[in-house]
Amino acid sequence: MAAEVDAVVVGGGLAGIAAAAELRALGRAAVVLEAGAQLGGKAQTATFDGAPVERGPVSFAGRHPELWKLVSLLELEADVVRLGRTARARYVVRGGALRGVVPHPLSLLTTRVVTWGERLRLLKELFFGATPLTREASLLEVFERHLGASFAHGPATAMVTGIFAGDPAKLSADACFPDLIAAARAKGNFLLGALAAPTTPGERRPGLFTLKGGLGRFGARAQERLEVRVGAPVEALERQGDLWRVVTAKESFRARAVVVATEAHAAATLLGRALPAASAALGAFEYAPMTVVHWRETEVGSAKLPQGFGYLAPPSERRFALGTLFLSSLRGEARGQYASFVGGALEPARAGLDDAALAAGVRQDVESLTGGRFGEVLHVQRWPQAVFQPVVGTAAKRDALRAALGDQGLVLAGSYLGSAAMKDAVRSGFEAAARAQALLDGSPALRSAGGAA
Ligand SMILES: Cc1cc2nc3c(=O)[nH]c(=O)nc-3n(C[C@H](O)[C@H](O)[C@H](O)COP(=O)(O)OP(=O)(O)OC[C@H]3O[C@@H](n4cnc5c(N)ncnc54)[C@H](O)[C@@H]3O)c2cc1C
Repeated sequence: MAAEVDAVVVGGGLAGIAAAAELRALGRAAVVLEAGAQLGGKAQTATFDGAPVERGPVSFAGRHPELWKLVSLLELEADVVRLGRTARARYVVRGGALRGVVPHPLSLLTTRVVTWGERLRLLKELFFGATPLTREASLLEVFERHLGASFAHGPATAMVTGIFAGDPAKLSADACFPDLIAAARAKGNFLLGALAAPTTPGERRPGLFTLKGGLGRFGARAQERLEVRVGAPVEALERQGDLWRVVTAKESFRARAVVVATEAHAAATLLGRALPAASAALGAFEYAPMTVVHWRETEVGSAKLPQGFGYLAPPSERRFALGTLFLSSLRGEARGQYASFVGGALEPARAGLDDAALAAGVRQDVESLTGGRFGEVLHVQRWPQAVFQPVVGTAAKRDALRAALGDQGLVLAGSYLGSAAMKDAVRSGFEAAARAQALLDGSPALRSAGGAA
């Protein structure tokens, strides 16, 4: 017999956790079915030598109210940790060396990352800027138009690498930075748009944050507070009259609302039978692979990397890794532990290299950039579908998906519905919960799913 619940959430990444936590706050009985051994999805933390090692994201920006709402729903306020001032020191590889950069548009006029020629080009843009395009264009086209080719292929693409591990010639400016592009159009000037204050309402705090014990705490806490099954991959979704039947190897559930909060390709597989047109639309969303190489130096300072957040390398610098985070520095510890990110949309094959080849590539980067010594690999984390790619045409794909999905009691959540970041995953989860609640409106809330069979 299938247990009856108000809603089933398929997938326990940040999107699924946000959806289930919100549904619980709305008084609904929701059960989360997660394929993996624990909740959290990409946000997972392992432990090495007693120190947390992030397998995926390392921090979240305090300017996003969605993350604070999730912190509050999971009662994690006491566990929030703000990264120290060290995190403000960031570096970009330029001309074969690390150059410091402050993450604010005005700093471009003073930092050594930017050449004098590029500064003049930026000043020209500020006062006599080209009109922002009204059609959708690639990030590279927009950067070249407003920042000049030299800056576009240097620091600007380094930033794109850091956020999306993507190809700037394919990524959509509108889909990647909707607020920035909207502000640029409203101001009639790209740089003035970039300088405009973000307009997101709700709680905002400056700086970068993590949780005591790492971002895996989101999943661990959700596992304590929500109705959850782990190691329970959903195998089938079937429509039965007004209800959905959700089937795992061990049990099945019947629900009026289903939130599918898996990656797009996994959702495409699940919806193949019940909603083939939506499944085809989901299959069109692209992801880039990425592998995280955690390593540490042989002795304090032997890698000769500076204190700070980390560095990014634009593709024009032809480095092996997309960038490296200075993890110990962020935690205020002396002995250097680092995480280098390899692969992405431009070098997908690198993400699939074996451990020895990954170590050799990162070693070569460290030695040639700083003259320092690399040390040893602690852990390798492979993500074949790491980061959603908001490429040109994404808005049209989303329209096709919405039309194919219709209004049948099945809602989607996941970072692919936004611009690939944690905040997008969490926001999509809250939005999915609101839609599920609207579907359930009028039907009495059920109690817990405990007795599923
Ligand atoms: C290395 C790395 C670094 C990152 N760094 C940052 C960063 O610094 N800042 C930032 O904002 N973002 C970062 N991201 C992106 C961020 O991690 C993601 O946007 C976010 O975690 C995605 O959450 P999600 O819930 O949409 O998907 P996921 O985390 O992918 O969760 C989907 C879940 O669905 C489950 N699932 C799949 N199929 C089934 C099934 N059939 N049945 C049940 N469950 C299923 C999966 O096991 C998984 O747990 C990073 C990502 C990676 C990989």
